[in-house]
Amino acid sequence: MTTTRIDNCPICGGKHLIHRLSYTDHISGQTFEILSCSDCKLHITQQAPQLQHMSNFYANSDAMCYQPAKESYDKWIAHLHNDWNKEQVRIVQQEADRASGVLFEMGCKQGFFANTIRNSGWIAHAVEHDATAREYANKRFLLQIEDAGRLFDIHPRSYNVVVAWDTLGEAIDLNRTIDKLSQLIVADGTLIVAFHNATCADATHYGAAWSGWNAPRKRWHFSPEAFEMLVDKHNLEIINCQQSARRAFITALSSQQHKEGKRNIIKTLFKSLRQARASENQTYIIYTLKHKQQ
Ligand SMILES: [Zn+2]
Repeated sequence: MTTTRIDNCPICGGKHLIHRLSYTDHISGQTFEILSCSDCKLHITQQAPQLQHMSNFYANSDAMCYQPAKESYDKWIAHLHNDWNKEQVRIVQQEADRASGVLFEMGCKQGFFANTIRNSGWIAHAVEHDATAREYANKRFLLQIEDAGRLFDIHPRSYNVVVAWDTLGEAIDLNRTIDKLSQLIVADGTLIVAFHNATCADATHYGAAWSGWNAPRKRWHFSPEAFEMLVDKHNLEIINCQQSARRAFITALSSQQHKEGKRNIIKTLFKSLRQARASENQTYIIYTLKHKQQ
C-alpha cells in the first residue's frame, strides 16, 4: 500500500511536526501516527493511504445495510442524530439568511443531512469518497451523489451555500480543496465549514479513544488557529463561529464507548454529558465564511 508522508505543514509551511499520539482505526485495525504542527497546531495523519487504497478503510456494504433500530438505546441514538440533522438545517438557514436555495455538500456520507435539507425545500447536491455510503444515500433517499473527485469538475459560482460538516479534513489536497469550495459559492454566497477541534479538552481527555480523530479517513485535524490561517490565505472572511453542544455530546458519547464499550450505558451517558460540559462544548466548531470584500 502506498502512503503519503508529510514533512511540511500545508497551512503554515512549518517543518516542526511532533508526535501527538498513535491512533488505531476501528475499521481496519491499523495504527496511524497523529502529528501536531508546533507552529499553527494543525494535526496531521502521517502516512495516510493514497486515495486508490482508501476503499479498504470504509465500513463494508453489509455493515451499511439499513436496519431500523430495535433496542431502545439505538433508537435514542438515531433520534439524537436526527435532531442534529435538523439543527444543521437551522444553522444553514440562519447563517445564509435564506429559507431555501441551492446547496452543495462536500462529503455527505450516507446522505442524512442532504435528505433533511431537501425535505425543507432546498435543492441539494453532494459528493462522497466512500462508494458504499454513496450507494446507500442514492438507494435509500434517491439522491444522486457522485464520487468526491467530481468536485473539481463543478462550474464555479453555482451555489448559494456550500457546506463541509467535518469533511474538509478528508481532502487529499487541502489548499486546492478550500480554494474550490470558495469558488463554488456565488458572490454573496455562504460557506459553512465545521470540524472537530484537535486542541479541545475532549481530545486531550480521551486521547487515542477520541472519536474526532477518525484516521486515516481524516488526514487533517484543525485547531481554530490553523483553520483561521488557512481561510485567510484563501481570501475568505470569517463571519461567525459557533459551537454545537449536541454535536459535542455525540462525540463524547462515541469516545466513551470506544474507551469502555457498551457495558454500562447509564454510566457512559453520564460520563459523556459531564465531559461535554467540562470541555465547554469547544469540541465541534462551525465557521460561517464569505468571500473577502476587495
Ligand atoms: Zn502549521
